[in-house]
Amino acid sequence: MALQCDDCGYKGKKAVEGGCPACGSRSFRAPRRKREKVKEPQPIRTAFMILLWGVLLYKLYQFTFS
Ligand SMILES: [Zn+2]
Repeated sequence: MALQCDDCGYKGKKAVEGGCPACGSRSFRAPRRKREKVKEPQPIRTAFMILLWGVLLYKLYQFTFS
């Protein structure tokens, strides 16, 4: 992960002892990453799928044992 200096905007690939190699700032760190978009669960869709499978299995059951 790239590091970025808060003061001068210098970008580096690894942390350097003593701060930013360009300006010496101690604010040389990894830029704040945007919160990664977490794949939200889809309860409605999941419920629908379960219902669908339930109906399917029920029909299969009926068909098999009738
Ligand atoms: Zn700097």
